[in-house]
Amino acid sequence: MNYDVIIIGAGSMGMAAGYYLSKSGKKTLLLDSFHPPHNKGSHHGETRIIRYAYAEGEEYVPFILKAQELWNELERDTGKPLFIPTGVLSVGNKESNFIQNTISSSTIYSLPLEVMNPVEVQNRWSGITMPNDFIGCFEPSSGVLKCEESIKAYQMLAEMNGATILSNCRVKEIHIQEEKVTIKTIDKTFHSDSLVIAAGAWSGHLLSMMDLDLPLTPVRKTFAWFDAIEKIYNSNDFPAFAFETSQGLYYGFPSVDGAGLKVGRHDGGERINPDEVMKQFGEIVEDRGDLIQFLNQYLPGIGQLKYGKTCMYTLTPDDKFVIDVHPKYSNVAIAAGFSGHGFKFSSAVGQALSNLIVSGKNEIDISQFSIDRFYN
Ligand SMILES: Cc1cc2nc3c(=O)[nH]c(=O)nc-3n(C[C@H](O)[C@H](O)[C@H](O)COP(=O)(O)OP(=O)(O)OC[C@H]3O[C@@H](n4cnc5c(N)ncnc54)[C@H](O)[C@@H]3O)c2cc1C
Repeated sequence: MNYDVIIIGAGSMGMAAGYYLSKSGKKTLLLDSFHPPHNKGSHHGETRIIRYAYAEGEEYVPFILKAQELWNELERDTGKPLFIPTGVLSVGNKESNFIQNTISSSTIYSLPLEVMNPVEVQNRWSGITMPNDFIGCFEPSSGVLKCEESIKAYQMLAEMNGATILSNCRVKEIHIQEEKVTIKTIDKTFHSDSLVIAAGAWSGHLLSMMDLDLPLTPVRKTFAWFDAIEKIYNSNDFPAFAFETSQGLYYGFPSVDGAGLKVGRHDGGERINPDEVMKQFGEIVEDRGDLIQFLNQYLPGIGQLKYGKTCMYTLTPDDKFVIDVHPKYSNVAIAAGFSGHGFKFSSAVGQALSNLIVSGKNEIDISQFSIDRFYN
């Protein structure tokens, strides 16, 4: 079977790319090992934070603003509510890079940000306590994306545009010869002019089949829901949050539809092979204790653990993404290494991948995500 483009991985980035490529008139095939959205990769757990005054660096801001514009379009085009306007509160030592970068990203791009001392934070959200040398930066226009629902929304539009999505169809082999792509699964062979690799934690393995060795490290991550007093922690009143503490960087979500407060830790995690069975939440003793010590210290009103889950990050050495064309094959675009903060960008990443395939360039500068940074 012949296609204009094959996308390997119909998860966060791949499904969005499938929408934009099919919209541009490309005959598009998406292949996924599982049935997206699913709980085997990096995109499950109901919610993801989206914030614009970016603590990771102001260079991300134009890309994230583009992403939000595209999320708004997706909501409008599907009629599905995908964004919950909770606002996001970033908390940390006032001298830290995390806080200083948040403030400078907001200043440079004139993004609304309320900088608050501990008393102001605690007066506004009685569920929080924090040390005197910390400050809070509240971004009222940011919030939470429904992750599985967003992937389903792109899937619906991609299929309406004529894209084919094959689930439970794991790619085993990739061959590229004279600008023609051949993809093999266990029992099928497909051909195309172009290829997109958006395989999350499995990207390193697939890229190694194409003579590309990128520093991508899959790690095990955990997150959990806790009982929470709805009057205080519900998503109309309580923000999504990120706390940089001396123990680690923790993030979380207010109770959405009575689900409880969700919390996870961003830094750390055990290096894993995504093809091996991962230890379940709680199999490592620190899974619970780590989150509970954070909650006891900063959100002391939170109740019992309800349940936890595991998920995967794919880290790069600088925590920046890889969004680029294969150095040897100009008809292959790659999106990988989202380092635990990529979901919010996935609308804009999908559009960028489509642009790289269609015209070789993207309207928003994505050179910070280039492959050659690893070799210079
Ligand atoms: C617990 C947790 C919390 C997070 N919180 C946030 C947050 O608050 N905000 C934020 O912006 N980001 C967050 N992230 C990060 C974000 O979710 C990821 O960066 C993003 O989902 C990565 O998308 P992806 O497309 O690379 O991977 P995925 O969404 O996992 O998609 C990859 C797909 O490729 C498929 N695949 C792999 N190999 C093959 C193959 N050989 N053949 C066919 N298909 C294949 C997989 O089945 C999968 O469906 C979080 C991540 C985790 C784990």
